[in-house]
Amino acid sequence: MNTLYLSKSKYCALWQCPKLAWLLKHKPELKTLDEATLARMRTGSEVGDLAMGLFGDYVEVTAYDGERLDLTKMIDATKTEMERGTPNICEASFSYNGLYCAVDILKNENGGWAIYEVKSSTHGEREVYAADVAYQKYVLEHCGVNVTGTYIVVINNEYVFDGELKLDEFFRIADVSETVAEKSREVEELLLIAEWYLDKPDEPPIDLSEACHSPYDCPYWAYCTRDLPRPNVFDLYRMPFRTKLGHYYCGEIAFSDLWKSRTIRDLKQLRQIDCTLHGCGDVVDAECIGEFMEKLSYPLYFLDFETVQYAVPRYVGSKPFEQIPFQYSLHYIEREGGELNHREFLAEAGEDPRRAIAEALCRDIPKDVCVTAYNKSFECGRLKYLAELFPDLAEHLMNIRENVVDLLVPFQSGWYYNPAMGGSFSIKSVLPALFPDDPELNYHNLEDIHNGSEAMNAFPAMEHMEPEELERTRKNLLKYCELDTLAMVKIWERLKEVSEE
Ligand code: SF4
Repeated sequence: MNTLYLSKSKYCALWQCPKLAWLLKHKPELKTLDEATLARMRTGSEVGDLAMGLFGDYVEVTAYDGERLDLTKMIDATKTEMERGTPNICEASFSYNGLYCAVDILKNENGGWAIYEVKSSTHGEREVYAADVAYQKYVLEHCGVNVTGTYIVVINNEYVFDGELKLDEFFRIADVSETVAEKSREVEELLLIAEWYLDKPDEPPIDLSEACHSPYDCPYWAYCTRDLPRPNVFDLYRMPFRTKLGHYYCGEIAFSDLWKSRTIRDLKQLRQIDCTLHGCGDVVDAECIGEFMEKLSYPLYFLDFETVQYAVPRYVGSKPFEQIPFQYSLHYIEREGGELNHREFLAEAGEDPRRAIAEALCRDIPKDVCVTAYNKSFECGRLKYLAELFPDLAEHLMNIRENVVDLLVPFQSGWYYNPAMGGSFSIKSVLPALFPDDPELNYHNLEDIHNGSEAMNAFPAMEHMEPEELERTRKNLLKYCELDTLAMVKIWERLKEVSEE
């Protein structure tokens, strides 16, 4: 028996980058998984469970020894079920020469067995999926299984939920035999690489590359980039624009965005930016900001939504992964020099939030007022979504939508830049760059919910909470969303100041 032990997830890691596979084996504690990745993993397991019933009756062979999977039991059970001719075996497990895999659904068809790999994605044609299935096919064939088909089962993003989930419509099956045949040619080569690297004590000498973000963001990015130097401004000239790699090399990569979007007459400003890279302060184009501010008028509203996405739709008329607004915060000022007011909406746990939020918006925002959003395509998209759902409110919602002005514009256009933004124009970067010492404007000082991903996860979780926890989560969600619009108010005030200077 070979000492190499490889599961299909390790094989896919190896396919992405041998160093990633090595780190997973030798330094698992150093990987960092963000909230969005964890949520994707939870969705994956929910969708995987659902897919088991796709072809009717099935037997699942998953077995545990304490908290760990009992692979031996699973392999034996698979053998038994295959001998019985069970039509669908879920988590069907095989091992060959140190290589292990569990097939999501092994279907008895065409005088042999077909592999169905389930992905909680809407795209079945990704190369990494074919590589994953090619590895499974390799293991199964070396275990003597006649593999008669290879398929990826993905979510059909056109599926509309009508109140009863229909698995055959919700899932879409892609025959990937051709790409699997191509990827099968790589398997032995990758296994040689695995043998060469994985059991060695030293980290493979592999450089950063596109593989660090493709097909997945690598969980060792922070680890692998820990010692990279920050380049000076002249390095930035030579860097490819808008690459993820670029985003790391220097937070001030925003400079390259400016460079790309501006003309030679702005070289003066480029020199200013060079200066900011050396800590000389903000870059402000007061004239452009002034023109932008003229588009804003009183009464002035500041709007921000939080949304939730369900892979498996739960509201009638909704599709998989639709972005469903469940909360908003709204600050507003009636007249010049007027006081700052606040309104908010947060749907009840477990309820379809769509009608209630649409009505609340129409109640809280009058027609024909100026509404600001930060990165308005998102807010405008949700307003349109609600307008299409509720024709009786459509006119009002579309009126709000037509009057939205994007507060992102001055930052994205380079009219206001500060190196502390770290190359990002998101509100989470702009706010601390503009107000570094204000604890009330610091997202880190919030409890539990500090970003959109955490808010997105909190809303469905509220359904299962005890009253005390539910109340705390509601409070934290409201505080988080309120800070988003308060941040917009502060940013607007700063823009107003600099445009009047
Ligand atoms: S960050 Fe890049 S080089 Fe480092 S392990 Fe991940 S993919 Fe490999």
